[in-house]
Amino acid sequence: MRTLITGGAGFIGSHLSERFLAEGHSVVCVDNFITGRPENIRHLVDNPKFRVIVHDISKPLFVDGLIDNVLHFASPASPVDYQKSPIQTLKVGSLGSHVALGIAKAHGARYLTASTSEVYGDPEIHPQTEDYWGHVNPVGERSMYDESKRFAEAMTMAYHREHGVRTHIVRIFNTYGERMRLDDGRVLPNFVGQALRGESLTVYGEGQQTRSFCYVSDLVDGIFRLLHSDYHMPVNIGNPSELTILEFAKEILKHTGSKSQIVYKPLPSDDPKQRRPDISLARKLLGWEPKVSREEGLKQTIEHFRKKVG
Ligand code: NAD
Ligand code: UDP
Repeated sequence: MRTLITGGAGFIGSHLSERFLAEGHSVVCVDNFITGRPENIRHLVDNPKFRVIVHDISKPLFVDGLIDNVLHFASPASPVDYQKSPIQTLKVGSLGSHVALGIAKAHGARYLTASTSEVYGDPEIHPQTEDYWGHVNPVGERSMYDESKRFAEAMTMAYHREHGVRTHIVRIFNTYGERMRLDDGRVLPNFVGQALRGESLTVYGEGQQTRSFCYVSDLVDGIFRLLHSDYHMPVNIGNPSELTILEFAKEILKHTGSKSQIVYKPLPSDDPKQRRPDISLARKLLGWEPKVSREEGLKQTIEHFRKKVG
């Protein structure tokens, strides 16, 4: 098996690359390092089954040899990253999906695209099920990401319906773990970095908005199962254990043993008020559910960040 992973040098992409290599696949990682880092894959580059192509997937790419699977994970993913590069974000979901789907079609490969809970926008139903169409502001400050991912889903379905490509869509909910960038602006690296440096934790708004955090090894396992299924409609993968951002800040203080204070900053516009995946479909279809508790996942992740902060 030979698997091409776009965004393979990113946080999730590097964990996927590791998993597919461990399963005996050859892995072709396509990345332009806009938000990924060489150090994420440094431990893989000497493996003869791992190849890196430095390339912007929004531009045409022709890959020699057989390809069995294409996983499209390239995209800035944190609000700070995608708001810094709105046009690149829209391009990688649209033009990048077109190129990646073209590779899958040319090689007769399976295709899996990394979609997101953001396709539900600021959701009016709770928890979110896959049949909910979402509540997205098409011109708001998160629109470059939300609409890029919604277009990516539509393009994936078009290739499935028109060309018969075996496609899969995973809607990923907030995921965390080793190799997130400390400066990517997401809540976990922000809070952990602040707690370890003794700085105040920046809670946005009153911290009453909720999220549900999934450890990366659980996500990767769900993706691996979905790729090997025959199901082409979207599937939520995430951990349904939900908490408010203020509760999360207190958990981080407890697990780091930090004496930092909590300070309140303005809530960014269109910040979803609540988010929790309904994972009934993943349970039924894939026999999948998360195994790593937040306590265990946070312990591992905090250890990783402790080495970075010094
Ligand atoms: P990340 O920023 O660490 O990884 C993204 C990778 O894609 C980086 O290595 C980046 O350099 C690469 N990339 C971006 N644009 C590219 C382009 N045009 N050509 C080639 N490479 C490009 O982010 P992540 O958290 O690992 O997210 C990976 C994927 O999962 C993204 O598609 C993201 O939207 C999706 N996702 C992540 C989460 C999460 O909680 N982490 C949630 C929902 C969806
Ligand atoms: N957040 C926060 N403080 C921070 C960073 C983020 O309170 O320093 C909040 C943010 O407003 C959002 C939640 O934490 O409500 C999750 O933010 P993140 O950027 O991690 O991802 P999102 O789920 O919003 O895409």
